Amino acid sequence: MNKKFDIEDLNSIRSDGYFKDFSHIKIGNKVQYLFLPRSVSDLALIFDFASKNKLPLFPIGGGSNVLLGNAKKRVLLMDYKLPKTFDVNSDEVVVSANFNLNSLINILKKNSLGGLEFLVTIPAHIGGLLKMNAGAFGKNISEYLKWIEVLNKKGEIEIIPKDKIEFSYRKSSIKDYILKAAFKFERKLEEEIDSQIKKFKKIRKDSQPINFPNLGCVFKNPKGESAGKLIDECGLKGEKIGDAEISEKHANFIINKGNASFEDVTNLIKLIQRKVYAKTGIELELEITVLN
Ligand SMILES: Cc1cc2nc3c(=O)[nH]c(=O)nc-3n(C[C@H](O)[C@H](O)[C@H](O)COP(=O)(O)OP(=O)(O)OC[C@H]3O[C@@H](n4cnc5c(N)ncnc54)[C@H](O)[C@@H]3O)c2cc1C
Repeated sequence: MNKKFDIEDLNSIRSDGYFKDFSHIKIGNKVQYLFLPRSVSDLALIFDFASKNKLPLFPIGGGSNVLLGNAKKRVLLMDYKLPKTFDVNSDEVVVSANFNLNSLINILKKNSLGGLEFLVTIPAHIGGLLKMNAGAFGKNISEYLKWIEVLNKKGEIEIIPKDKIEFSYRKSSIKDYILKAAFKFERKLEEEIDSQIKKFKKIRKDSQPINFPNLGCVFKNPKGESAGKLIDECGLKGEKIGDAEISEKHANFIINKGNASFEDVTNLIKLIQRKVYAKTGIELELEITVLN
């Protein structure tokens, strides 16, 4: 059957919401096609809808890395209502992709399993963290990965072992929708994990503007350089466009001081890139995903 998929078929899982409600920087207009699937079969329907209507499909996890401009003519897929699962089987932890990172770190701690403490406080989901190969302090989440389960473009569930995925700096070759991931973590004492959590929480609290909505580091660090340091050396800390401001605490963070718009942030991004290039000849590359 090749009928043009009717939006009515999906109304029970469609949201009338604004992207700002799902975005960690609290920016985003009303979305035309925003879906909150509850099952794999709902996901399959959404894939079908997007493909038959030739609309690009974009999954969202924690929304901590995405700046969205025009939300028309795009299908956004939120993971909040999908089943949340966590299983430990001797050495292997299998977790659904929509699991919140900080909840996972706490559950792992109770199971005397550690490893992800270096990422603590990041407001992200496991699927998004894997897609971006999130990392900090010289470590990446992919170091603990064994395999992922995805829903592929043909609508089939497939297991992809880690050695079939390429991971690099804030990047992975994952193209399909991640449903689950299996990890091997480290056996540790609960107290040891707790002290690691406290240590990394303090580092982040002391160095990042956690009191304002933001998307983490806006730019990747150029080889051998720190993007934040380059921006700071251009005297840009505190620079504002509308309600978007370069954080005084960490120059690689743009914060929303109230009602920042997509354009405020993108204009500030362009200003930073221009100034850093003029002073150093270095082109700063975005770490965040900007969808116009
Ligand atoms: C305060 C703060 C601190 C941060 N610190 C760090 C840090 O230390 N290190 C770091 O690397 N990043 C950091 N980030 C950035 C961000 O958290 C990471 O990029 C994270 O990996 C994004 O996860 P998410 O669930 O929010 O994904 P989203 O922002 O929702 O999406 C990110 C990407 O993942 C894709 N995606 C989401 N879910 C799935 C899925 N199920 N299947 C396939 N693709 C999917 C999206 O399509 C998109 O391409 C920080 C962000 C904030 C706000």
